[in-house]
Formats: sequence, structure tokens, C-alpha cells
Amino acid sequence: MTTNADAAARARAVIPGGVNSPVRAFGSVGGTPLSIVAARGATVTDVEGTEYVDLVGSWGPALLGHAHPDVVAAVQEAAARGLSFGASTPAEAELAEVVIDRLTVAGTRGIERLRLVSTGTEATMTAIRVARAATARDLVVKFAGHYHGHSDGLLAEAGSGLATFALPGSAGVPPEIAALTLVLPYNDLDAVRAAFAQHPGRIAAVIVEAVGANAGVLAPDPSFNRDLAGLVHEHGALLILDEVLTGFRVGPAGRWGLEAAGLVGETGWTPDIVTFGKVIGGGMPLAALGGRAGILDLLAPAGPVYQAGTLSGNPLAVAAGLATLRNATPDVYARVDAAAEVVATALHEALAAAGVTHVIPRAGSLFSVAFRSDAVRDYADARDQEAWRYPPFFHAMREAGVSLPPSVFEAWFLSAAHDEPALDRILAALPAAASAAAS
Ligand code: PLP
Repeated sequence: MTTNADAAARARAVIPGGVNSPVRAFGSVGGTPLSIVAARGATVTDVEGTEYVDLVGSWGPALLGHAHPDVVAAVQEAAARGLSFGASTPAEAELAEVVIDRLTVAGTRGIERLRLVSTGTEATMTAIRVARAATARDLVVKFAGHYHGHSDGLLAEAGSGLATFALPGSAGVPPEIAALTLVLPYNDLDAVRAAFAQHPGRIAAVIVEAVGANAGVLAPDPSFNRDLAGLVHEHGALLILDEVLTGFRVGPAGRWGLEAAGLVGETGWTPDIVTFGKVIGGGMPLAALGGRAGILDLLAPAGPVYQAGTLSGNPLAVAAGLATLRNATPDVYARVDAAAEVVATALHEALAAAGVTHVIPRAGSLFSVAFRSDAVRDYADARDQEAWRYPPFFHAMREAGVSLPPSVFEAWFLSAAHDEPALDRILAALPAAASAAAS
């Protein structure tokens, strides 16, 4: 039998670090990375044949659970008609219509145009190019601990794998490029005001995760997104709302949709560009950026901003996205929210019973754990915790058949497939893991 250790050794010989995305190497929790051969519903199965209840969810896309039958059937049917055409398809326009329709909330149209790309990184990178062209300005503001993919200008103090590895940025990014990005503390509007005052007429855009979820969960203060939009617009800049992770996951129209509907946060604000990824492709490589016609039509060939992709709008990915969104019904969101509530509550109870100091940063179905006593509002808070408690907790959960994100700086992903038996297995595993975190 091939073991996870065999698979990791084989991969290390031919793939840098043995992985194609750093967090998969388990660098912050130690131990042997899982080598997965199958995933279905709420579970993943490793190369040794061990099945785990999965709380990684492919880092977000698996809203319906893994290998949802309708999504798999849609992909198979699309594959039978050809894998890639390098030409337009009717389905890509249908997907754009579905997304634009979803992003019309309480009479407000969030976006009017949608350009499909293949990764969230491409979506945010292109959004910034468009914003610079629209404003004829050069600087971009991002928030510490927010992750927007791995393009040169957006890596400074990013969360996700960078938080895990505690790197300040990345080698290979010229300082001249990094200097075009201003990194500010999250949830701090005074810092944004100060940046606009310090760089008058130079800030093209502020990019923000709709809910911070890449340094653990960093929930926006209730009026933060609305007030940020107001401030950005007051200064003639654009607001890029990054919904790559939250889009179609925290609600039918993402975080913006929840705010526009008056369910959380504040109504009465609209971003200029919204980026999507993860759920929009249902597990296939698909992402997108949307916005008003006047902004998105700056993209070639309608306008002067160049952007292209051999596999953009790939028919298999579009089929998976359409099938996923078709199945992402109100009932699905209710089930994911309920499952998150059950797990977050049990997590709190288990840690409290074991006497482990913790908080559970949370925004709807997104939550994580932080080993500290005070609420987590920004990246500095997220880093100021007893992170060393997570590896023993993680490994105890793994022993009990639950696969957690291999870093304390990641959100836990529930799905509509996390039914009672799956939740019971998670709940049963928590007390021993909490004890492991206590010691
Ligand atoms: N933006 C956010 C908020 C993300 O969470 C991510 C990925 O985790 C990205 C952008 C980058 O997306 P991708 O990994 O598809 O390039």
C-alpha cells in the first residue's frame, strides 16, 4: 500500500516542496501531509484509504460538498462535447447572466458586466489594472492579513500561506512594485483617511476582502464596508471588493448581498469592482471580476486594458459553475449556516471545558479559532495568540478522522453535505483535541 509518507517523498523529489500550493505541505502543523485520492460529500479519502470528515472544502469551492452529482454530471456532459474551444460559448453568457442576476439585491444592481478568468489571483490582478486605468492613478491600498492571490503587488503582508510561514512578502518582488501597495491595518478607517491625506490624487483603489478570512476570520466591524466605500468614493478612488472566498458562500450574493439585503452590516453602498472565485467554479478553475459597464468595459477588446486567457471561460469550468450556482439554493445556505453554528458552538464548549483560552472569530458560516482571550479585529491581533496550541489540536482531530485546515490562520469550511453523521464525528473528536491543545 502507498502511504501518505511515500506519496510525500515521491512528490518532494519532483515538485518544489512536494506541493503545488504551500499550505498543503503542513509546514505550520508538522507531520505528514495528506495525499488525497477521492472526495465525496463531506469526506475526503487519502492514499492509505482512510476517510476523513473534511473541513478544508478545497479552501472554499465545495459549498455543496465534494463531487455533487449534478455538478459531476454537468462536467461530464460538457467534457463529452469538447474540453476547450478557444472561442465564445453560450454557457459563459448564461453564467454571467446568472451572476449579474444574483448580484441584483433589493433593487440594487451590484454589477452589470462579468469577465471570466481562471483563478482568483487573475481576478484581483486584473481588477487592479482596470482600477488604475479608470482613475489614471498608481497606488493601491490593501489591508494587512488580507490575501488577494499571489500577484506581485498584492503579496505584502498577505495572510493565508504567508501568515502561516510568517513571511513579510515574497522574494522576487521588486521593491519598486511593492512600493505601489500601501498596507493598512484592517477595520481602521482612520488609517485609510490618513493614507488618502498623505497621497492626494494617487490612490487608484482600495482592495478589501468582503470578510477577512485568510488570517483566520477577521470580521468587518458592522459599518466598516459601507464606511470604507464612502471614504474611497469621496476621494475619487475605486473600491475593489474581493469576494473570491465569500462570494456565493456566505450567502446567495456573497457578503455584499447580505449587506445590501439588510441582513448584516449596512445597506446603501456598492463596490466598483467585485472579484469572485472558488464557489463560482464549483471546484473547477474558474474566477471572475464584475462591475459597472462603464468600468468593466475598459477591458479589451471593448476598451484599452489588456487581459486574456487561453482557458478563460473554459466550458467544463463554466458547466461546473452553473450547476453549482443552480444547486446553491436558500436551503443550502441555511444548512451550511446551521452546520457552522453546531461546529463553532461545540468547538467553543470543548475548549472551554479543557480550560483553553480561545476566541472563535466568526462571520456567518465562516469561522476559525484563535488561542487568545480578546476578540480578533486585525492581523496584529490574529498573530498575537498561542498558535503553538493548534498543531496538537489539529493532529488529535486527524487521529479521530477529521481533516482540519493545516494552519490556525485559515477558516474552517462547512458544506451542505455536512449532515448529522458528519457533524457527530466532528463533535466526538473535539474533546480529546481540546485536551491536546491544553497541554
Ligand atoms: N482572494 C481571496 C479572498 C482568496 O481567499 C484567494 C485564495 O484563497 C484569492 C483571492 C486567490 O485565489 P486563487 O487561489 O484562486 O488564485
